[in-house]
Amino acid sequence: MESIGISGITPSASFTNWRRQLAEAIRDPDELCQVLDLPNEVREAARRAARWFPLLVPRGFVARMTPRDPADPLLRQVLPLDAEGEEAPGFVADPVGDGQHLAAPGLLRKYARRALLMTSGVCAVHCRYCFRRHYPYEQAPRGLDAWEPALSHLAMDQTLDEVILSGGDPLTLTDEWLARLAKRLATIPHLRRLRVHTRLPIVLPERVTDELLNWITSGSWRPIVVIHCNHPRELDLSTQHALRKLVEANIMVLNQAVLLRGVNDNVTALEELSLLLLDLGVIPYYLHQLDRVAGAAHFEVSENLGRMLVAELARRLPGYAVPRYVREIEGAEHKVPL
Ligand SMILES: *Cc1c(COP(=O)(O)O)cnc(C)c1O
Ligand code: SF4
Repeated sequence: MESIGISGITPSASFTNWRRQLAEAIRDPDELCQVLDLPNEVREAARRAARWFPLLVPRGFVARMTPRDPADPLLRQVLPLDAEGEEAPGFVADPVGDGQHLAAPGLLRKYARRALLMTSGVCAVHCRYCFRRHYPYEQAPRGLDAWEPALSHLAMDQTLDEVILSGGDPLTLTDEWLARLAKRLATIPHLRRLRVHTRLPIVLPERVTDELLNWITSGSWRPIVVIHCNHPRELDLSTQHALRKLVEANIMVLNQAVLLRGVNDNVTALEELSLLLLDLGVIPYYLHQLDRVAGAAHFEVSENLGRMLVAELARRLPGYAVPRYVREIEGAEHKVPL
């Protein structure tokens, strides 16, 4: 993360608030287990598995978990387990083959019309099922100058009408930095949509600052924010407030969830998730089949069960509340419906 200090200017309260909460997130498995009063064997396993992929979870997200319940669906997403060390056939380090599509440093061209800027390797939470658990985290270009080749590429290729800020999580960067990037992007006339893929409005809702709303709505583009929420219990009051702010700023907000064993592999959780999202004005967009990343096999739900769950959702909900059940296939030009 690049810090931009402008001497003589005091950062606003909201700025210091989310940065502080990110800095104070829980990284120590012992502390997480202590806060949630979890048994010793859980603590020891968490300590072992955190060596492969460190634990990271903001305190506000932990506060939504039920104490003394190792099976809590929110805890399951962040708690390191011994199962992560088990090898499983077909589960590999880079299941999506992202390494192969770099058109310029930090710029991924994989889909028609859309280019991804991998703006930050940092996340505010470490999701145990994520394929980024094996990613070379520090590879994103840093200062805005380092982004010039990517930005020139965007400016030159008029077939690209959408920029997706991705990562890691782009909202771990400061609004000052992102506003400068947005200003540069606004000089590219053929960009019609600016999309941000982020989990921060869910795990650290204070990140939805007025400054964020300012830069994201500053261009002539349609702003889109794709959040990542897997379970209705993630949507506590502060998160609901953050999502309402995005929607009220006239930003299109979509959710993608990942289908995860022990988290949301039941129709009640998925139905409640869709209904709560709709209440907030957020469209349930994708339900992802797990990427087969090494260390995440214990999260896999069979495609058969996935199809049954989505079929049941379709019986219970209006069509727009049923997410598209998709999987990412290496080499495919879009997500493949299941
Ligand atoms: C799938 C995916 C996209 C493209 O998304 P669409 O909504 O299918 O256009 C962009 N970024 C990431 C990280 C993705 O996984
Ligand atoms: S990229 Fe998204 S899913 Fe992966 S660890 Fe970061 S926040 Fe979680």
